[in-house]
Amino acid sequence: MLEVRSSPLSTTLRAFYEFIYPPACLGCEEYLGESTDRICDTCFQKIKPITHDDPLFKEMRERLVSGGQIDGLISAFHFEKDGTLQSLIHHLKYEEMTRAGFELGKKIGVMISAFGGDLSTASLVPVPLHPSKRRERGYNQSVYVAMGMRSVTELAVLAKLLHRKRNTRSQTTLNIEERRNNVRSAFEVNSRYAASVAGSSFILVDDVITTGATIQECARILKEHGAKSVFAASVALADHGTLKDTV
Ligand SMILES: [Zn+2]
Repeated sequence: MLEVRSSPLSTTLRAFYEFIYPPACLGCEEYLGESTDRICDTCFQKIKPITHDDPLFKEMRERLVSGGQIDGLISAFHFEKDGTLQSLIHHLKYEEMTRAGFELGKKIGVMISAFGGDLSTASLVPVPLHPSKRRERGYNQSVYVAMGMRSVTELAVLAKLLHRKRNTRSQTTLNIEERRNNVRSAFEVNSRYAASVAGSSFILVDDVITTGATIQECARILKEHGAKSVFAASVALADHGTLKDTV
């Protein structure tokens, strides 16, 4: 199956770039010295972590798992309006944005390594953007989050497994039921890889989960093709007061 790999050339170019421009924190622009992380501890400490007994985490996990398609949820942070995480996600230039996605993905990767079970053999599947939206934005943030997760877990990233067939309308103003209808049948398994889904485990990767309608629909399609287990992973969970357009 097609995987995303970073080439030796891009690694060399990055080393050269960082020689000319010493690495600074993506959040506060402080010089980072020898650290290989690109977000400093002070900035990470400003992002509110999400724990297993957090009401928002419990509610989201219950909602996702009760749908019968998703087997578990892994998420690292709260998405707070006007918080450090939102500024990291929204206010960076292209290069830095992809790097921020990668750094945040490393945090989820560490959490996944601690779980074991089906998670230790699962493949990472970024939730796809519609091609027209990807062209407009230039990248799919979830792919970089998945690559950060891979750097810690060594799990495969299957960026082409799911394909978005149609562009859904903006979800910002929709309630949960409307969102579910909006994303219904928006995805398909790429026919080239369809045979390999049965019996395998997957971790769907998104940047922010709001209602979970999109990730649930992706899981439904994978289960329809015989996936053994499907987990949802995101950098952050947003409560309904901070709904963001994630589609
Ligand atoms: Zn910082």
